[in-house]
Amino acid sequence: MPSIDPKMESSTEPREMTLHRLRRCIALLERVYGVPKRRGLGPVDILVQTILSQNTTSANTHRAFESLKRRYPDYQALLDAPDEDVARSIRCGGLAAIKARRIKEALEMIRGRKVGDDVAKGGQKADSGDGAGPGRPVGAGGPGGSGGAAGRIDLDFLKDLDPKAARDYLLALPGVGPKTAAVVLLFGFNMPLIPVDTHVNRLSRRLGFVPEAASIGEAEEILEAMTPVDKYCSFHVNLIRHGRAVCKARSPACAGCVLGEICPSAGIGGQKG
Ligand code: SF4
Repeated sequence: MPSIDPKMESSTEPREMTLHRLRRCIALLERVYGVPKRRGLGPVDILVQTILSQNTTSANTHRAFESLKRRYPDYQALLDAPDEDVARSIRCGGLAAIKARRIKEALEMIRGRKVGDDVAKGGQKADSGDGAGPGRPVGAGGPGGSGGAAGRIDLDFLKDLDPKAARDYLLALPGVGPKTAAVVLLFGFNMPLIPVDTHVNRLSRRLGFVPEAASIGEAEEILEAMTPVDKYCSFHVNLIRHGRAVCKARSPACAGCVLGEICPSAGIGGQKG
């Protein structure tokens, strides 16, 4: 678990109390929204879908992703297609030209992936062996030997890396920021990371789990340190659901909010829940 700078504790509230409220938060949200199930998408699909989700709604993301997969059932065909055609297939998701370019560039890098110094020297799990030198294609004896040959569009080799090294690899891809990397690793590989999107960020501060002064990166560390690992997925998904349905950015519906009993901000949206 990450160690937390005491300055980043969320308030003067005793830590035990904050932990208790967070666990209660998870239980209350599961009562309302259920325990989230993974959708079974592969890591590359998750990556593409997450790039498509930037600056748009989940409904538009879903539509754009379905349209893309209908048009290009395999990613090699997508890479062979002109940018304009790819953009046309995801137009319903907004920023189509930019996202099409980012997706193609990311897939190109995955297809021709190289092992950088960080991954080759420091990132592998201790028992995975190290047959690759810097700059050598993964798969030709690369991390774990399970990444497949360079030229394949898959991210399976990430499962043999430490979360930090896997995250660093993804962050080097175009259009991939900390949230996207964490989403791919949590949902694609069950790695212990909590993606902090706009909803998780807003709610975790209103709920007093993360101090206002914390950066997004610090928020990630704080939440990962406080949340039981087997609840990372539930906490992330259900906070997003609650942020969309109830604790909205401009008009939190505190009256009747299931989290009213444990929320120090209860009442900011009107009558206390
Ligand atoms: S009580 Fe209000 S501020 Fe707190 S989580 Fe619910 S809607 Fe958000």
